[in-house]
Amino acid sequence: MKFCLPFILSAYALLQGCATNPSLNPVTAVSSGELTALQALYDVKHYQLEIEVVPEQKTIIGNVSMTALALGEITQIELDFDPRFKIAMVTVNERQADFESFNGKLLITTDVLARGSEFTTSVSYKGRPYEAENPPWDGGFVWNRTESGQHWVATAVQGRGCDLYWPCKDHISDKPERGADMLITVPNDLVAVMNGVLVSEQSIKNKTRYHWQTTNPISAYHLAINIGPFKTFELEHQSLIGTGDESPSTFPIVFYHITEDMGKIENLIKTDFLSQLDFYERTLGPYPWGNEKIGIVEIPYLGMEHQTMNGYGNKFRQDPDGFDWLMQHEFAHEWFGNLMTQEASRDFWLHEGFANYMQPIYAQDVIGDAGFWSKMWRNYNAIASCKPVIPEEDVSMDYFDSNDPYFKGSWTLHTLRWMMGEEKFWNAVRRLIYDTPDPWSLSYPITPTKRSSEDFITIASDEYGEDLRWFFDAYLFSKDIPTLEVDRSNDELRLSFRDLPNLILDIPVVLYEDGAVESGRHNVSRSTTLSIRSDGSSHAVQSSARIQIDPEVKIFREFSTAQRCQISQ
Ligand SMILES: [Zn+2]
Repeated sequence: MKFCLPFILSAYALLQGCATNPSLNPVTAVSSGELTALQALYDVKHYQLEIEVVPEQKTIIGNVSMTALALGEITQIELDFDPRFKIAMVTVNERQADFESFNGKLLITTDVLARGSEFTTSVSYKGRPYEAENPPWDGGFVWNRTESGQHWVATAVQGRGCDLYWPCKDHISDKPERGADMLITVPNDLVAVMNGVLVSEQSIKNKTRYHWQTTNPISAYHLAINIGPFKTFELEHQSLIGTGDESPSTFPIVFYHITEDMGKIENLIKTDFLSQLDFYERTLGPYPWGNEKIGIVEIPYLGMEHQTMNGYGNKFRQDPDGFDWLMQHEFAHEWFGNLMTQEASRDFWLHEGFANYMQPIYAQDVIGDAGFWSKMWRNYNAIASCKPVIPEEDVSMDYFDSNDPYFKGSWTLHTLRWMMGEEKFWNAVRRLIYDTPDPWSLSYPITPTKRSSEDFITIASDEYGEDLRWFFDAYLFSKDIPTLEVDRSNDELRLSFRDLPNLILDIPVVLYEDGAVESGRHNVSRSTTLSIRSDGSSHAVQSSARIQIDPEVKIFREFSTAQRCQISQ
């Protein structure tokens, strides 16, 4: 609304913008949150999107079907859908049905659908979808042009949901288990690329219809439309695992690009990306969707983790740590987000905290400690700490107004890794993603997992051999970063974590003593690993020694190097 105030400068231009891109209905503008009673009555099995995109008019004409299983007796089906679209017809099991568009919801009346039965809804509609003002953070359609003036179109709806351009169950908890078919029609000079594999390409007068299909479960926000005069750069990748009874073969890595500079493309894909892929398959396990493809598409905004069709818009920039962080981050989501999906929005850090931690770890692989710490320290000083990363109750995605799920999540994992040790930590991570510590023994298709924060705490505790709830209480269920209090009087050192009266944080820290006296020898240096409890612990040190606590910064704690809680105020 603020952009429509008539008295501000450039009001005319802004009013024009408001007229062509009306602001979003508040219900449409948010995604997930608590399931409504009607949403909870069905489980989506399959989506079929038939959408014609008319870039010249910035409009779409759609016919979207949803097949779902009734989990109770149903007489009304609730879909989420932006009310700006004009709906021509709705059917349930191929019979025309009454419907009502109300406050971002499409309510369809149906004859009784018995519990346990499958039903199919179909919605025909057209209109001008909401245009993203700042993608990917502000979602919607992105209408752009290439340097040569051709249309270049993409969508980004992670934060706001699939209902921005097609009728769907806009909730992270419900993936269609049988996947999705996407039939996208575009003008002849353009190509439409999407998730899964290309089934057919059909010319219809001056248009072409591309039929893409994924048989893997997929989050609705991943069904992203990418349209442009794409060319392809393709490699074959040797699979680590087989399919069913068949031994490992190869699957394609395809880069759909707008850029013509083959040097840049080869450098990004052949050198940088292949090394990243090797890192992930070695560290985590086999690429999750080897029964389809690795897809990367050049898009006119920064990036998004669309399953088997990662959106890439970092313009071939390598960061100072020797790789393209954006590519590496988005690709991490094929494991953290796509194969393993958060149960509810409150578990967002399971996607972003883990995906973010993969950049410093990979930087360590490429550059060494300097790469690792340059990323960790930058992230550390950008932590807001205004509210807990994991709220007690579920929330909608707009709860997350800082980067804390990324940076605080990543730092929490750093300390957890130190505490658990390499083997146990990575086993817990693999169990979180694949439900097994040995994913190399699996075969395609790999079954996705749905996880809550509590699931990860249970898995990590099991690997560690001790209940770790206290650890997550201190770091992710509390808003503050623990402060280590150091109180020293001569030969007694008292350590405690401040401001955590109800929490226990029992973490081993390294104490480095320099200049101590031992067996008559002076200037002895030694390091000891101590366990600190939040309510304090005392340790004997030599009164002459200079001490340094946790010199390798294994413990995520407040150094007061950054002003916290400035971002959302
Ligand atoms: Zn991410």
